[in-house]
Amino acid sequence: MSKILVVANQKGGVGKTTTAVNLSASLAATKRKVLMVDLDPQGNATMGSGIDKHELEQSLYEVLTGKCLISEAIVTSESAGFDVLPTNANLTAAEVELMDLPQRETRLRSALEKVSANYDYIIIDCPPSLSMLTINAMVAAQGVLIPMQCEYYALEGLSALIQTIEKIKSNLNPELKIEGILRTMYDPRNSLTTDVSTQLITHFGDKVYSTVIPRNVRLAEAPSYGLPALAYDKNSRGAIAYLALAGEINRRTNSKNPAAKKITPAK
Ligand code: ADP
Ligand code: MG
Repeated sequence: MSKILVVANQKGGVGKTTTAVNLSASLAATKRKVLMVDLDPQGNATMGSGIDKHELEQSLYEVLTGKCLISEAIVTSESAGFDVLPTNANLTAAEVELMDLPQRETRLRSALEKVSANYDYIIIDCPPSLSMLTINAMVAAQGVLIPMQCEYYALEGLSALIQTIEKIKSNLNPELKIEGILRTMYDPRNSLTTDVSTQLITHFGDKVYSTVIPRNVRLAEAPSYGLPALAYDKNSRGAIAYLALAGEINRRTNSKNPAAKKITPAK
């Protein structure tokens, strides 16, 4: 069964899309089969994975509104190394249309169930809001990966996000949990960064990934070539950091999967 992680934070510009694309590429580099789902109508994760959002025949919009099968919309990005369920501006209409459709909160989950056996990981990139689309993602996922920039207002927004997670957990998806908190655009020379980082660890303990993502210009440049950093400049600090994150996530996933644990015979 695949592990479904949703990259969410209702704040914009914290590194959600960068994380979704580069984590997907790094997990794929560790020989995992990955599907990345672009749930933001801006389609940045789609473009950043080398898929032209202007040339889509089918997209997530058609899948969510029942106009096509999920298998008809998924495309393989050869350059990025993973499969993509792509998105374009049509998805904005889905927000409105979903309101009138039955099972409006579980449509993404139902669609992903049809293909999840094909993947080790499904990574979902969310829009910067706690909208019906984000709710669909949280209903479909097992864990929420929260990218955070360690700055003064970062912690403020976190409580609304955690309340949403708790609400979905009690009403719609009992298995949902915070998978991990990822410190992005990290600058250890900045004392505010290290202060907020310390606070995060005090509050969330080992939920905070030990991998930090540094501020790295390669991560910002790569999307304009439609490439993850790993394909654009594999020796860059950004690419290496996301590889380390993939390693950390693989280790966490394996240690929680009893089937993957070594069984000690009873004496
Ligand atoms: P979000 O999806 O949360 O809105 P993005 O991933 O689009 O955030 O990142 C916002 C901007 O910051 C983008 O221009 C992106 O290229 C840049 N960026 C993200 N992470 C980094 C990083 N670690 N170093 C440098 N630039 C980054
Ligand atoms: Mg984004």
